[in-house]
Amino acid sequence: AMILYQDQFIDREQAKVDIEDRGYQFGDGIYEAMMVYSGRIFLLEPHMKRLERSARELSLSLPYSVGHLTENIKKLIELNNLEDGVVYFQITRGAAPRQHFFPDNTPTVITGSVSVRTRDLTSRPKGIKACLADDIRWLRCDIKTLNLLGNVLAKQKAHVSGAGEAILHRESTVTEGSSSNVFIVKNGQLVTHPADHFILNGITRLFVFDLAKQLDIPYVERKFTVDELLDADEVFITSTSNEVNPVLQIDDQIINNGKQGPISERLIAAFDAEVERIRSF
Ligand code: PMP
Repeated sequence: AMILYQDQFIDREQAKVDIEDRGYQFGDGIYEAMMVYSGRIFLLEPHMKRLERSARELSLSLPYSVGHLTENIKKLIELNNLEDGVVYFQITRGAAPRQHFFPDNTPTVITGSVSVRTRDLTSRPKGIKACLADDIRWLRCDIKTLNLLGNVLAKQKAHVSGAGEAILHRESTVTEGSSSNVFIVKNGQLVTHPADHFILNGITRLFVFDLAKQLDIPYVERKFTVDELLDADEVFITSTSNEVNPVLQIDDQIINNGKQGPISERLIAAFDAEVERIRSF
């Protein structure tokens, strides 16, 4: 497989990370993961906008224009003949003698890679189990940084308990999933945490707002509690790789009798239609 390294395309085996890369030592960098359907990047623009924002929030200066970075990502997809899959893209503050403060005149390190992931609707799971976990992360979860240890520990907790996702809460407030945003449905209305410093403003989350508008499903961004979560009519998580995914059980609490709910179903159908639409361009 070919990967993107800085401004070049090289073999995966040839790519080496410097031991003093700040991404490696401090998690000092940013990333985006995007879906590719029929060779086309899904929701490319909002992803690249978010990348720019993450860079700005960390005072990381991008070495190339977003236009140029995007061209390289597209070239990477072509070189690998990727039809359906994921493209992962990251930028670190580069390699420099280890000191916490930013190095001077150090080039950032850019890498990108793709992986195949077929979108098989027949074998798609109808929903997942989740567990609750304390949100122990820092207070800038809105930035998509490489520093994911809080997320990793939460996902591991889910994994060992046989759950597909950990739903995080700060005290009684539900924030988001370890790698997803969380929505509840109550009395026909979608509720999800506001886009402040406590969550990543997911591109899929924003896309679900668009779908909800199209479908005349009311939605509100407000904080909600763990009790509201467990008492919801429907719960689903959203993320780039898992799209809209119903949560049918949270710890011991069964949601909606363990079945995918009607609002989740409508959103999933609308999502599928959008994917089919971009395939046919
Ligand atoms: N929150 C967190 C912590 C995540 O890691 C992700 C996945 N990147 C999301 C939310 C969902 O964001 P998106 O829809 O942009 O993938």
